[in-house]
Amino acid sequence: MHNCQILRTFATKIENLITMATQEETFKKIVAHCKEYGFVFPSSEIYDGLGAVYDYAQNGVELKNNIKRYWWDSMTLLHENIVGIDAAIFMHPTTWKASGHVDAFNDPLIDNRDSKKRYRADVLIEEQLAKIEDKINKEVEKAHKRFGESFDEAQFRATNGRVLEHQAKWDALHQRYSDAMNKMDLDELKQIILDEEIVCPISGTRNWTDVRQFNLMFSTDMGSTADGAMKIYLRPETAQGIFVNYLNVQKTGRMKIPFGIAQIGKAFRNEIVARQFIFRMREFEQMEMQFFIKPGTEMEWFEHWKQFRLKWHKALGLGDEKYRYHDHEKLAHYANAATDIEFQMPFGFKEVEGIHSRTNFDLSQHAKYSGKKIEYFDPEMNQSYTPYVIETSIGVDRMFLSIMCSAYQEEQLEGGDTRVVLHLPAVLAPVKACVMPLVKKDGLPEKAREIMDMLKFDFKTTYDEKDSIGKRYRRQDAIGTPFCITVDHDTLTDGCVTVRYRDTMQQDRVRIEDLHELIRKATDMKLLYRKLMTE
Ligand code: ATP
Repeated sequence: MHNCQILRTFATKIENLITMATQEETFKKIVAHCKEYGFVFPSSEIYDGLGAVYDYAQNGVELKNNIKRYWWDSMTLLHENIVGIDAAIFMHPTTWKASGHVDAFNDPLIDNRDSKKRYRADVLIEEQLAKIEDKINKEVEKAHKRFGESFDEAQFRATNGRVLEHQAKWDALHQRYSDAMNKMDLDELKQIILDEEIVCPISGTRNWTDVRQFNLMFSTDMGSTADGAMKIYLRPETAQGIFVNYLNVQKTGRMKIPFGIAQIGKAFRNEIVARQFIFRMREFEQMEMQFFIKPGTEMEWFEHWKQFRLKWHKALGLGDEKYRYHDHEKLAHYANAATDIEFQMPFGFKEVEGIHSRTNFDLSQHAKYSGKKIEYFDPEMNQSYTPYVIETSIGVDRMFLSIMCSAYQEEQLEGGDTRVVLHLPAVLAPVKACVMPLVKKDGLPEKAREIMDMLKFDFKTTYDEKDSIGKRYRRQDAIGTPFCITVDHDTLTDGCVTVRYRDTMQQDRVRIEDLHELIRKATDMKLLYRKLMTE
């Protein structure tokens, strides 16, 4: 290699390492910020926490509730054919036999004998695939820099020797991996790990155990005596609570196909490797909607929900370029189409939501195991059938994390000052306005309280009189409060306050009677609903 080229390659490598380190650093800061400013705490922290279980704190719970409201309303308010339910977490154990979770909700796990660390075998191999992909992307990036505007990426990918070599390696590994996963051939998964010389990131060794299956469901006993006790599970998804209630809802609600049932609730998975903060938890919350349709119309509805769900995400204004679809190549046994909506987290594009065409698998299975007829009589066709289902399934916690990651910013201000600010969408912000008397005397606190009392029925409002105004602004910036309202001596005579805006830091003099409308205009969820309803 030419000296210049060696230097360029070296520089690119360093650049990439720096970007990765910076992103990792930013992520650590976001996690620390979540704790310091009352968004997310480790569960039972006084006992050193519990792996991959977290509590939402005073600000976190407000943000989370706002996310849930946005989702719930956009399903049940905006769609007259979608209704909600709230099913119990405990369900009859046969539910999980019928759904396939008892037999097939497994992850292949492998241990490293030296570090005693446990990994998902499939994740180790997927990381290896990602490394090859990374190499290809770096070649493309380098060539892009070299050729500038005239660069033809498609042609480069189809003809460059090094890219083709990496691509052939990727294709072969991917094929072998897909075959092994489809057959759940555990010996083959181990052999791939050995052949690819994958090492444990902690010990650096290849001293692996065999690959074993691990069921992700938590179980417990229901009943007072050991003899009479029944083994039940904590639900690993909320969807089954909807399927087993399909007939009840359809009949009591006189629902006509197509119609949907929405639900928000906790789900539990005994994840083997839990990491990346609230991205992969053992207790988490899902927002799922099952849409029941006529067989044969599933591709049309799948496309419809794919579009609608992406629009829902984009309406928040976090940046359209931060989302992408990831269509599944390997489909679950019950699905005939599936895609993920991925969001650009500091640790890469990651799944936030899944949209699945589940055929009539679940309803048919429940009909088989319960012995009940679970069908729909279609008056137009004058015949009965088992409805097909399109599912949209999003994790509240991953949604929360994506919002925090895109909102968090460290800003350099004029005069060398810095501030940490959460540019949260105003409609989701935990606190909409903070009212602050300039000083703690001369009747200003009383006036500030009066303003707060006027606003608090409609908006989450707080009051702060401690420290300098500058420090109080910073505290509100750090939790993403869009409006700070300062009451000063002039307020008592001119009936105006100073409104300071979080994002621009600009200040305006506003009449007290105009405050309500000013805040409403920026924080009303109807703004989002209207966006969703326009084409
Ligand atoms: P992954 O591949 O990341 O394990 P999954 O495909 O198993 O996710 P689904 O079963 O499709 O996830 O669940 C739907 C949604 O529930 C996911 O898109 C995600 O937002 C959320 N979710 C799933 N598992 C977890 C978890 N352990 N912690 C937090 N959220 C989760």
